[in-house]
Amino acid sequence: MATPLKVTVVGAGVIGMCAAAQLQRQGHRVTVLDPDPPGSNCSFGNAGSISAHSCVPMSLPGIVWKVPRWLLDPLGPLAIRLGYLPTALPWLLRFVAAGRGDKVTAQARALRALYQPAVEAHYELAQDYGAEDLLMRAGTLQVYESEAGFAGDANVRRIMRANGVELNELDGHEIRQLEPALAPIFARGVHIEKSAHCIDPGGHVTRLAETFTRRGGHILARRVMGFETGTEGPSAIKTDAGDVPAGDKLVIAAGAWSHRLAAQLGSQVPLEAERGYHMTLASPGIETRRPISFADRKFMATPMAMGLRLAGTVEFAGIESEPNWRRSEVLVEHARRVFPGLDASHGSRWRGHRPATPDSVPVISGSPHLASVFYAFGHGHLGLTGGAITGRHIADLVSGRPTAIDMTPYRIDRF
Ligand SMILES: Cc1cc2nc3c(=O)[nH]c(=O)nc-3n(C[C@H](O)[C@H](O)[C@H](O)COP(=O)(O)OP(=O)(O)OC[C@H]3O[C@@H](n4cnc5c(N)ncnc54)[C@H](O)[C@@H]3O)c2cc1C
Repeated sequence: MATPLKVTVVGAGVIGMCAAAQLQRQGHRVTVLDPDPPGSNCSFGNAGSISAHSCVPMSLPGIVWKVPRWLLDPLGPLAIRLGYLPTALPWLLRFVAAGRGDKVTAQARALRALYQPAVEAHYELAQDYGAEDLLMRAGTLQVYESEAGFAGDANVRRIMRANGVELNELDGHEIRQLEPALAPIFARGVHIEKSAHCIDPGGHVTRLAETFTRRGGHILARRVMGFETGTEGPSAIKTDAGDVPAGDKLVIAAGAWSHRLAAQLGSQVPLEAERGYHMTLASPGIETRRPISFADRKFMATPMAMGLRLAGTVEFAGIESEPNWRRSEVLVEHARRVFPGLDASHGSRWRGHRPATPDSVPVISGSPHLASVFYAFGHGHLGLTGGAITGRHIADLVSGRPTAIDMTPYRIDRF
């Protein structure tokens, strides 16, 4: 047991609540601040995949040549609102620069070191906090409509194998055996057995929050506006409903909003909101067993407690702009092609903002300036995956314990 500290966590998404729970397990007295209910922002509507195998950064050599094709396709996986382009441009340039071969090798190594124990860490936390029934170990499947598409991802498989990920390559017949609801249009696939998923991502965070409060943790519905800072770190936290004592340590886990708070604490971080969408079909009329990722159309279909969730797409439009719900509907159009028996009559749509760094590596770090301040954000497409394990590392950093891995690649001052 570490020396008990008063710790304040800003943000009650999957990252903030997992950090709060792991800190509480180490004996600290933890208060979480968030104006919204736990798990109600990006962590609510994700595709549920706990992708411990994921270690390939989003930016790879040659990505710049694929972008125009994606942007020109109205059903494509990527959109940039014209008016937002000047704001996003510096981040986008860094993103392209992160795709250089040697950088990709280092980023993949960092992602692998972080996420490899993700499934085990989630189960361990969920067992303790009463959320285990929301997790499933059913593996995951990635499918390709053409041999050319499969060949185009050879570099992705090479990076994964070089980092020790076990991949089973499948032909069309084997794909249909695993997932009979799929249309017979898939030429190749990759099956990853050691993967898990969450059948209710929002509910999972709610459960963690319930157990956290039952065990004496506090969650206050407050938006953090700023800080009263001393030499070690904030002495008070300014919120929309008055000041809150900062406690001994502060963890910023505010998802896509984190860079605004980090800037107030002296750290500039390039963080963009990659907006994604979902459509969850309450009675899809088909059965699938595991998350299926459609490589050509870049979306995922995951069986969940509340139906079949179709999720994906990336839109750069800023956090405050109106959603383009057409992007949710596009997911249904894709799904109708890949699942011939699909009933899409009862759908609920959603959008959320992935907190994305240009190098795809999250920030899990102490502040270089303020001894009492820590950061946990920027998990992009893998925040659910990284929740429990990030919480473990943050709790160790806050407690001053040795971490299980070298935390250098995740430092906030690497940019
Ligand atoms: C379509 C889609 C599909 C996805 N699929 C997957 C997947 O299959 N697997 C996976 O691992 N990941 C997936 N992700 C990514 C994952 O959902 C995110 O990385 C993750 O939810 C980020 O969690 P977070 O806690 O950092 O952010 P959030 O859940 O957004 O939480 C941040 C919280 O901080 C609060 N906050 C912000 N500012 C303040 C402030 N000033 N004061 C107090 N509180 C504040 C917000 O209110 C919010 O509740 C997907 C994302 C999308 C959009």
